[in-house]
Parts: sequence; structure tokens; C-alpha cells
Amino acid sequence: GLGATGNFIHSYIQEDLKGELKKIHTRFPPEPNGYLHIGHAKSICLNFGLANLYGGKCNLRFDDTNPTKEDVEYVDSIREDVKWLGFDWEDRLYYASSYFGRYYEVAVKLIKEGKAFVCDLSAEEMRQYRGTLSAPGKESPYRNRSVEENLELFERMKNGEFPDGSRTLRAKIDMSSPNINMRDPVIYRIAHATHHETGDAWCIYPMYDFAHPLEDAIEGITHSICTMEFEDHRPLYDWVVKEAGYTENPPRQIEFARLGMTNTVMSKRKLRALVEDGLVDGWDDPRMPTISGLRRRGYTPEAIRDFCERIGVAKANSIVDSGLLDYCIRDDLKTKTKVVMAVLDPVKLVITNYPEGQVEMVELENNPEAPQLGSRMAPFTRELYIEREDFMEEPVKKFFRLAPGKEVRLKGAYFVTCTDFVKDEAGNVVEIRCTYDPETKSGSGFEGRKVKGTLHWVSATENIQATARLYDYMMLDNPEDPNGDMIMNPNSLEVRECFIEPVISEAQKGERFQFMRNGYYIVDTKDTSEEKLVFNRIVSLKSSFKL
Ligand code: ATP
Ligand code: MG
Ligand code: MG
Repeated sequence: GLGATGNFIHSYIQEDLKGELKKIHTRFPPEPNGYLHIGHAKSICLNFGLANLYGGKCNLRFDDTNPTKEDVEYVDSIREDVKWLGFDWEDRLYYASSYFGRYYEVAVKLIKEGKAFVCDLSAEEMRQYRGTLSAPGKESPYRNRSVEENLELFERMKNGEFPDGSRTLRAKIDMSSPNINMRDPVIYRIAHATHHETGDAWCIYPMYDFAHPLEDAIEGITHSICTMEFEDHRPLYDWVVKEAGYTENPPRQIEFARLGMTNTVMSKRKLRALVEDGLVDGWDDPRMPTISGLRRRGYTPEAIRDFCERIGVAKANSIVDSGLLDYCIRDDLKTKTKVVMAVLDPVKLVITNYPEGQVEMVELENNPEAPQLGSRMAPFTRELYIEREDFMEEPVKKFFRLAPGKEVRLKGAYFVTCTDFVKDEAGNVVEIRCTYDPETKSGSGFEGRKVKGTLHWVSATENIQATARLYDYMMLDNPEDPNGDMIMNPNSLEVRECFIEPVISEAQKGERFQFMRNGYYIVDTKDTSEEKLVFNRIVSLKSSFKL
């Protein structure tokens, strides 16, 4: 596929491997401030995939240098999700917070070399001094403090003598640089906050643009793959690596376009808002694009990896059709799941010439496309349920299902001909009546006449009742589109009470099935109980998506 060999990152790596570099080393560096989503999966597949392909290594690193938004709950979920996707960091699990001492040493080195200074400007003043793309910035009045004064003030910042926001440490680079990131960027700030790993040991914290290149250099990362918005930060990344003294095989930052998907929110901040506002049933709501949501919904790691492979890696931002992910899961489940009959919108079908009280077991293949999945028996009785949409009082052209006077096959059983139907006072069809032809039994070799439609059915007396949750896209708009709004699809969840063949009573939590002529389903791991099976529809069988 495109992702495996064709993209520009491979060219960079192959070029680097022709030089002094012996082995590549990548990393996946999530900030533990939320659950991973399908966009992160793209980065995971890319980083671990490159390491696997080129015989290198990939670290899992928690980029946890910001104490306020992070939590161990997220750390645990990230570990689980990366493993579930099928990747192994072995003994290479790191925390950026474990390098706090090292960042501090580098900051002191910069101060001693006259390359960093303590600045007393407020955030607002700093914004004004920074200038704009078309106008150079103005130097801070604190820029020329002596090395001694800077060392003393920085130590006092570290010792907690100053309040949050009162001072920063800034790199002394170039206030007239055309790249605003190089205009004396802040590299340390004061934050009296308890960190989930280091507790109250620190009250100054490094900024991302300072910490991240150091994390990569400390771990011996050769290719630091990040998303496009960091392209303008690359000169600063390179500056930090060089000034810190990591000159041998320095890490190389490479940017790629982040994944966006139609009808999908893809930002931890916005996803957290949905969770906190109670609009969804937690981070693992089956509608969420989080890895845990996709897992609960029934997506497989194989389908997600296939998706990441197919979307490929490029520099240009684009929004991928959500239908592609649906395509990948259908493709993966096609020959893996058993097909059972479930009726989701039942109407009763009575076979008036079939003996009352008789239960006839009929044999059905578990998956016609996968003979190795074997077969099962299903009970056929005088009263059945069929789908309401499989009957039309006045059939339109090309309606090959049931209608007065029309004959169809009941899957695995007999031909039936509709003779009559009953309506309630409101005009709804409540019962369909038919007769069956005993000679037409499936497997009997009957060839007397043909029918155009085959319907699935479930015995009205021998069945299992279950709940089926039918999901649709969570968002109405494309929330990542600058003009897109965060409007939830009011029809993103529809709950149905349904009837399924008795064989379903053996289903385990997390087991997947195809409901014949409808879609793929999974037994929900959370809401299923001894009393009730709850199914999530992973994806419907129908697709308008074209590859
Ligand atoms: P978000 O905006 O959703 O919080 P983030 O980039 O802040 O995302 P991080 O935890 O820092 O989240 O991400 C870890 C890694 O995953 C980073 O290297 C980042 O580039 C990558 N990543 C995050 N979102 C996407 C995405 N939509 N597509 C591709 N890669 C992504
Ligand atoms: Mg980030
Ligand atoms: Mg973020």
C-alpha cells in the first residue's frame, strides 16, 4: 500500500541510512491529557511501522511536561490502546518528566553562554514586543541582564520565590528573525502546580519547543515525526538540539499532515468537552473516534491499521471520507464473522397451513463466504417475525420481497405466498398471513419454480430478545473544517429491541456477528448483562463509498 513504501518519509530515511546512520529510532509521544483517537493511530502506525520496516526501534514516550491538564488515567488508557493496536514498545517506555533535571541543566548552560535570559515582561507585553510577520520584534528591556543575575534569578524561579506568570526564561536568538518562533522564545515558565509524576518537586516547567527536541536527543531519536503545524518550529528545534550539544546524529524533525475525517471531531480538547458535557457515554462511547470508542464499537486493530495504510502520508492537509474506515472494517469482518438472522423492526408472519406447535430445525451455513465456519440449526415455526420493510401492501416496481399474492423464499426454509394481512386501527400492518409449500424446502433440490426474493426471519416463539444500538456519524458537520460547526447528529444513536435466532445465547462479550442483510454487530462489553444482550452496530452492510 501507499503507506508502506511510497511516501516522502521513506525517501528521507533511506537517504539517511546511506550516510552515517546505522539504525533508525522513532517515538510516539502522546501528551497524557486525553484518550487517543484515530488521528493518533495514524502516527502510531507510522512511527512503529517505520521502525519495524527498517529494523529500528520505536519508543512510547509520555510527553508530560505540562502539569495542569495531565492525568494517570490517560497514561493507562494510552498504554492499553497502543498495545491493542498491535504495537510493542518492549522496554522503551519513557516519561518526558523524568528529564526535568536535564532540561534544567541545559537551561543553565544556555544562561552561562549568554544564550538565555530571565525576562520580567508580562504575557501581554511580550506579545506586543514580539512583532508580526511584516514587522520585526523589539528586544526585551531585560535581554541584557548579566549572566550572574540571570543565574541567580533562574535559581530563585526554581526555588519557588516568584508567583506564576511573573517571570520566564527566554532563549536569546533573534528578535528580527522572519520566523516569529525564533524571536527569543520562552523556554521556561513558572507554574506552582502538582505534577502527576513528579509531584511538587518543580514549580518551573519547560515549554514544549524546548523540551521536545531535548527529549528526542536524550533518547537518541533519529527521526522525530510530527504534524505540519510544527514546520515553522523546526529552526528552533534544531537550535535547541545544537546548543544543548547533541551534535552527533542529531534527531531530524519531519512533518506530515494530520488526519482529519468527515463528520468526525478530532481534537482531544473538543472530545473532552463532549465527555464533560455528558453528550456522550464517556471516552469510549461507541460513536467516539477514540481508539477505546472504536474498540467498543467493534472495530478491529487490523481494520484500523489497514485504514492507516490506505490513507498514506503526505504534506498536504486533507479530510478523509469516514466511509473508508467503514470499508476497511467490512473488508476485515467479511470472512471472520458468523452470519445470524436478527429481525430489527419486526412484524408477525403467520403460516396458516403450517402445524401449530411444530418446531422444525433447519440448517443454515454460518458464512457462505467462509465454509470453515460451519453451520447451525435454527428453529422454524408457524409464527415468525420478518422485517417490516420486507412487506409492501402495494408493491412498487422491482420490489421482490413479500406482497399480497407474491411468493418469496424464507432463508434456509420454504417458499411462502402472502394470502392476507391484518391492520390495526391506525392503519399499521400488524400481521401478515401466508401459506407455505412443503415441497420447496431448502436443500431438497426443488426446481419446480423460482422466486426473486429471499428473506431472513426469526421464530416468534423460539428466539432471544436483545437490544441493538444503531449508530450513525457523531457529527453533522466537519468540525475540523474552519467553517464546520460542532453540531452533534441528533440521529447518531437509535436503540431497537430485536429478535435473534436462539444460537445467539452462546455469544460472548466482545464477539462479532453479521446480522443477515443488515450489518456487522458486536456484543457490547459494558452494557451486556446476564439478563440482556446488547449489540452495537459496527457498520451497516450497505455502502455508498467507492474506493
Ligand atoms: P490533539 O490536538 O488531538 O490534542 P495533539 O497533537 O495535541 O492532538 P499529542 O498527544 O501531542 O496530541 O499527539 C501525539 C502524537 O500524535 C503527536 O506526534 C501528534 O503529531 C500525533 N497526532 C495527533 N493528532 C493527530 C492527527 N489528527 N493525525 C496524525 N497525527 C496526529
Ligand atoms: Mg501535542
Ligand atoms: Mg493537544
